[in-house]
Amino acid sequence: MRNLKKKFILSFLFIFCALLVLAQTAPKIFYFNLQDVRLLESPFKHAEDLNLNYLLALDADRLLAPFFREAGLEAKAESYTNWENSGLDGHIGGHYLSGLSYMYASTENPEIYARLNYMINQLKLCQDANGDGYIGGVPGSKAVWAEIKEGKINASGFGLNGKWVPLYNIHKTFSGLRDAYLLTRNEIAKEMLIKYGDWAINIFSKLSDEQMQDMLRSEHGGLNEVFADIFAISGDEKYLTLARRFSHRFILAPLINKEDKLTGLHANTQIPKVIGYKRISELDGNKTWSDAALFFWENVTQKRTVSIGGNSASEHFHPVDDYSRMLTSVEGPETCNTYNMLHLTKMLHQTSPEARFLDFYERGLYNHILSTQNPETGGLVYFTPMRAGHYRVYSQSQTSFWCCVGSGIENHSKYGEMIYAHSSNDLYVNLFIPSKVNWKEKNVTIIQENNFPEEAQTQFTIQSKRKTQFTLKIRFPKWVSNQRPEVMLNGKPILVPVIDGFIVINRKWKKNDKLTLKLPMQVTVEQIPDKSNYYSFLYGPIVLASKTGTENMDGLFADDSRGGHIAHGRQVSQRDLPIIVGDKNLIASYVQPVQGKKLTFMLLNLAPEKFATGMELIPFNTLHESRYMLYFPFVTPEEAEKISKKIEADERERMHLESKTVDKVILGEQQPESDHAVKYENSQTGFVEDVQWREARGWFSYEMRNRGKQAKLLYIEYFDRDRSRNFDVFINDIRVGALSLTGTKGDKRQTKIFPIPEKMISNEILSVKFVPMPGSTTAKITEVRLLNTLIE
Ligand SMILES: [Zn+2]
Repeated sequence: MRNLKKKFILSFLFIFCALLVLAQTAPKIFYFNLQDVRLLESPFKHAEDLNLNYLLALDADRLLAPFFREAGLEAKAESYTNWENSGLDGHIGGHYLSGLSYMYASTENPEIYARLNYMINQLKLCQDANGDGYIGGVPGSKAVWAEIKEGKINASGFGLNGKWVPLYNIHKTFSGLRDAYLLTRNEIAKEMLIKYGDWAINIFSKLSDEQMQDMLRSEHGGLNEVFADIFAISGDEKYLTLARRFSHRFILAPLINKEDKLTGLHANTQIPKVIGYKRISELDGNKTWSDAALFFWENVTQKRTVSIGGNSASEHFHPVDDYSRMLTSVEGPETCNTYNMLHLTKMLHQTSPEARFLDFYERGLYNHILSTQNPETGGLVYFTPMRAGHYRVYSQSQTSFWCCVGSGIENHSKYGEMIYAHSSNDLYVNLFIPSKVNWKEKNVTIIQENNFPEEAQTQFTIQSKRKTQFTLKIRFPKWVSNQRPEVMLNGKPILVPVIDGFIVINRKWKKNDKLTLKLPMQVTVEQIPDKSNYYSFLYGPIVLASKTGTENMDGLFADDSRGGHIAHGRQVSQRDLPIIVGDKNLIASYVQPVQGKKLTFMLLNLAPEKFATGMELIPFNTLHESRYMLYFPFVTPEEAEKISKKIEADERERMHLESKTVDKVILGEQQPESDHAVKYENSQTGFVEDVQWREARGWFSYEMRNRGKQAKLLYIEYFDRDRSRNFDVFINDIRVGALSLTGTKGDKRQTKIFPIPEKMISNEILSVKFVPMPGSTTAKITEVRLLNTLIE
């Protein structure tokens, strides 16, 4: 009897604890289906419209071609180029399913619906032809999956068995089918998805956990999330087991221990893994995994994120206490990262609704995501450099097939997903995006209208047949400049409480009730997270930036070359850009509104002299096809004095060098090179920052003019940043010297001087030639001069 009682108490305690744990990982609010939200006129609606055209401009048959090829079927068109025919074949096809599904749910556009159904029906032909459930465009699919099934695994960050991230690639197809089912209730997609899941179980089930973890070193998107979703859709536990086996412990373990070991890791490889940990925790109540996801989110958003809400330099997490790479790289935050971070944020907010999640979501959405679409062409952006004076490259629908085009065609199709949420009796307004939401359970439609941020307010109109009791909870963001909310109901001011960051109004709402909320904003300043002296300006939640010029924006609209997504044009010297001089505590006050120009400000207190009249600041998300400055360096007047002295000293040194120069050639620049009869074989030019260079695996030479027969010395300026480079220097075919590089001097230019042999001094032309040792390359050489005497 006592035992029985103990058993009863124990099992009661067990159930209670299990419920408690589940309660911590279960949704507290529900988002609306995209079908229930419609965007109204705003930049977001404009982006949605443009993206609809971009989706329709893509040729479904060309996107399907890799899937047909791998299924042994004849494709109806040729594959697209770029990443679509160089190893990542088919990845855009997967994203395309998702993009079309989101777009259909958001607009119910019939052409989009037809395109989506066509894609699914064609992919079904491929799945049927494969016969084992597989659908994918990975080149040589059959062989690579057979190898892996046998346990032959050769994994690295961006490779698996000699292929370019095949797991990452198939994740896109899995997600596309899931989205087609969840967003448009396409039953064929559901059937295909589950069959595809069975294929995955068949391929990976024989692998040991060690083999799985070894394989997961290779980028694999959010396969753990999508397998967990298949469990949620099918109810079959085996997919959840697969999801857990696809969870990379190398990343998970430190997060569970509350350790940030992210520095140096490829950023966008990790974020989807964490989304998967969170998704699994929602389904099995594993709070440890949910906490690990939250810890990741906190670290990335607080320590690793710039003002626009993006992260990563050259796609990697840099040290939290050193943003120098972020500030100098032309490969700033990648759009995919923010796409994934917003997805993670949405999930975290659902199980624990908190203002901080919405603050980050809004920041990333308005300033990064919205800004990554060209508002004329619909072209999409990969990198958004924080490097001052640089620019961004836009995709073109028929040439550019990068990851950020894939995530991009999804981004601009689903702006309705987070604007509202609800619980049984509460309607939450999370974002101030003009839109209409249909709350079916309550038979109520709410219309939100505004011209935010141009106008600092938003207005709601209630539409319902009969009076309806519910609580309207409107986010009262931390960026508003007033302490107490100013709310008008049907034209009369009302007093409302603010609870946990939300204005709470509970009443019996009636048809045509109108509510207006003022959202006064001010300019604020935000220091870069490593606390170095770089500052970004905001107006409310909107990040401001300056245009700095439009010269030399090579590749502004990307072609289909492999590196076409990177802004390769000349980098502007940071010395030619403004710097704020003044008092650190007063920086925000150096920004003044420009009268008569909405959302336009003037940043004052700038040096050097040519910026004395100030720089115009506008919302970064409206700044396109231009070089720009988003983070501004700051110095005190004393530091400014030191800098200008240093510039003067450098200038004097330069003048001194010029006074000794008989002839010079600036390498890589067309005119000086052709003036000196440049000749070369297997040679190329490029930039380190704003400095141009030439190098060769073959050789290169210049005809230098020995004016007045004064030349006594040969001066060479070069970069010593590449290891194991050895080369000889010839004048008139006689070897006058050699250089061996250490590869350790980074971006600081080095110099070397060789005497010119006596017997050549009477020659009017000296032919200077650089020849690497066999198998080596010359240095990146930037300047060659003839000098008449040694420079002291
Ligand atoms: Zn990307």
